[in-house]
Amino acid sequence: MARGILLIYGIYLLCWQADGNENNKYDDYLLLRLYPRASKEIDVLNNLEKSIEDIEFLKRSRSFNDTTDILVPPNKVPLIRDLALENGIVFEVKENYGRSFEPVDRTPRRRILRGFDVFEYHSYAAMQEHLDILVKRHPELISLQTLGESYQRRRVRLVKISSNPKAGNPIIFIDAGIHAREWVAPAMAMYLVHRLVNDPEARRDLAGVDWYILPVVNPDGYEFTRASKVNRLWRKTRSKNTVYGCFGVDGNRNYGYKWAVSGVSKNPCDQETYAGPKPFSEPETQMVRNVMMEYGKRIKLYVSLHSYGQYLVYPWGYTGDFLPKEWQKLDSLARIVSNAVESAGGQPFRVMSAGKWYPAAGGSDDFAFGAIGVPYSYTMELTDGYEFLFPERLLHTVFPQYYEGFKAFAAQIRNEFPPTRHKKKISSVAH
Ligand SMILES: [Zn+2]
Repeated sequence: MARGILLIYGIYLLCWQADGNENNKYDDYLLLRLYPRASKEIDVLNNLEKSIEDIEFLKRSRSFNDTTDILVPPNKVPLIRDLALENGIVFEVKENYGRSFEPVDRTPRRRILRGFDVFEYHSYAAMQEHLDILVKRHPELISLQTLGESYQRRRVRLVKISSNPKAGNPIIFIDAGIHAREWVAPAMAMYLVHRLVNDPEARRDLAGVDWYILPVVNPDGYEFTRASKVNRLWRKTRSKNTVYGCFGVDGNRNYGYKWAVSGVSKNPCDQETYAGPKPFSEPETQMVRNVMMEYGKRIKLYVSLHSYGQYLVYPWGYTGDFLPKEWQKLDSLARIVSNAVESAGGQPFRVMSAGKWYPAAGGSDDFAFGAIGVPYSYTMELTDGYEFLFPERLLHTVFPQYYEGFKAFAAQIRNEFPPTRHKKKISSVAH
């Protein structure tokens, strides 16, 4: 008993030390929000990282009415300010950026006692525990499929929600959290699961479609961002490159369709967009690929949840030179979804092809669309205005708004794609 107490105390002390000694390098960093108004100005900003070290891109402009957000150490601010002035780019500055990071609640016990609140950010373990509880409560609706393990051996499971699993319904496949720091994305995925399973009215949204949801593609990275404030803005996986001794691959540059042809870094020590040593080098992207290959043609809609910027973008991501021939269908469904979110009081999405302003290859949406043949494939950048630090207290406002968008997605899939079993029945009757 005494030993047990000592052990708990020891762990507590460790956590406290990790916190107390924490020197968050971002505390003094400045957030520069730049407003490019011409494509030449966007080009200037996209080339910044080549000439100035130690700056970190949080978001690149995808259009003129959108900002480029960069984190800058204090000593680099004059350089960027001069460059912005030289090119006539308007900008604003937010000081001491790291001080605005919300502290991570490291007391999961307390949270477990009062249940799982879908409007909070949770640990990976708490999410998994909650999924197990949902399966026990609603075995007729929800099941879990183990896909494998992350690099650090966390078990990854796919949530399947269906009111009629034998019907051969078209599948809506949603993943989230390939990028570690985008906390609002896994939280949204968990909210979707919650609504579809617990809300009696959501039975309508289950009619004729099956929902497959993977709430956290990159659990290692996610837990890393929760471990300390210094890690809060980590993006990549946590695999170790043995040659360079650096960590992580950008999972959304790692998919094997037109891999690494544009918008990637070949440097394993790059913080942001390292594409990996080869396509699908990461167990995390392999697991998503395997889901897509296993269910193949039944998947009619794929949505990868990210943050931030309030964008809903579609292929191609790897090039801005041309669009897929079906782009009008992709575009019009995205606008229907955006309107649904807006009607619910939310902010409309900016809808466009992903590669229009900065082409980036190896994304999951291109792979789903180009390699698997999923007819509707999107990347959804949730929220705007708080960068990657979307406040917990606002989740209850935006999640129900986004849910209306997913209802619109489901309506389209249900109307356009009848269940395969059903179709077979009809044809056998006809003959
Ligand atoms: Zn992302």
